Amino acid sequence: MMKVTIYANSNPKSKKVATELHTKLTAAGFEIDDYAPDLVLSVGGDGTLLSAFHHYSDMVDQVRFVGVHTGHLGFYTDWRDYEIDQLIAGLKDDNGQSVTYPLLSVEITYADTGETDHYLALNESTLKKLGSTMVADVYIQDELFERFRGDGLCVSTPTGSTAYNKSVGGAVIHPRLDALQMAEIASINNRVFRTLGSPVIVAPYETITIKPQQQSHFIFTADQMDTQPRPIQQIRYSIANRRIAFAQHRHNRFWQRVETSFIGLEEDQ
Ligand code: NAP
Ligand code: MN
Repeated sequence: MMKVTIYANSNPKSKKVATELHTKLTAAGFEIDDYAPDLVLSVGGDGTLLSAFHHYSDMVDQVRFVGVHTGHLGFYTDWRDYEIDQLIAGLKDDNGQSVTYPLLSVEITYADTGETDHYLALNESTLKKLGSTMVADVYIQDELFERFRGDGLCVSTPTGSTAYNKSVGGAVIHPRLDALQMAEIASINNRVFRTLGSPVIVAPYETITIKPQQQSHFIFTADQMDTQPRPIQQIRYSIANRRIAFAQHRHNRFWQRVETSFIGLEEDQ
C-alpha cells in the first residue's frame, strides 16, 4: 500500500482538512509515513507546496506530490478542500502516473570562504542588493552576456514563471517546456549602462552564471528561503537533473488557470 504524508500549513482550515485527510486515508488503508513517503499531500496554498517540496527535496526522485488548496485554486495545488473524497478515490486507483516539471539547480560560491553550496528551487532564485545598486556580470554558457546594474536578477523555472518572475515582468511559460528564464529587477538603462532590458529564456542545456562585481553583501534567495547578506563570488544556474513529480494532477488546463488567477473570469465560465 502507498505510504503517504500530510504536510499542512498552520491555518485552522488547513489543520482541519489535514485531520480529515488523515482519518479518511487511514480508513482507506493507506499507511501514514512522514519519513519515507511515496506521496506527499500538501494542504494550504502554493506556498505550502513549496515548503513541502523543500522538506522532502532530498528524496524528490522517490516521491510524488499532490497539492490541496484551502483557499482559491493555485498553480501547484489542483485539488480543493471539498474534493477530498474524490482525491482519495483517485489515489486508491492510482497507477503511479505523474506529470513532472523541471527544477532549478543553484550552485553558489561565497567570496569570503570560497565554499560552494547547492540548492534546488521549484519557483525561482534571486540575487539582490539592498541600498546601493547591484553590479553583476551575467554569463550564458560561460560567455559574458551583459553587465547588469539595478536591484537584482530573478532566475525561474516554468512553473515558477507565474510567481515572482511575473511580478518583475517575466513571461509566463507553459510548464511542459524545459527552460530557464532570467528576468531583471529594476535595471538601470541609460547612455552609460546597458542591459538587454527584457527577460531571456535559455535552452535546457544552457547555464546562466552571475558574478557580482562588488565586494559588498548580497541577498540570495531560493523560493521562500533567504540568506544573511554575504559576499558572493558567483552563482551558476542550470536545469537540475532531478524533476518534481505530481500525482493525480489536473494541470492540463494551464492557460485556463492563468486566466482565472490573473485576469479573473470564474473558473466554470
Ligand atoms: P507569499 O508571499 O504568500 O507568496 C506570494 C504569492 O505567490 C502567494 O499568493 C502565493 O500563492 C503565490 N505563489 C507561490 N508560488 C506561485 C506560483 N508558482 N505561481 C503563481 N503564484 C504563486 O509566499 P509563499 O506562499 O511562501 O511563496 C513564496 C513565493 O512567493 C516565492 O517563491 C516567490 O515566487 C513569491 N514572491 C513573490 C513576490 C512578488 O511577486 N513581488 C515577492 C516575494 C516572493 P499562495 O497564496 O497559494 O501561497
Ligand atoms: Mn503563501
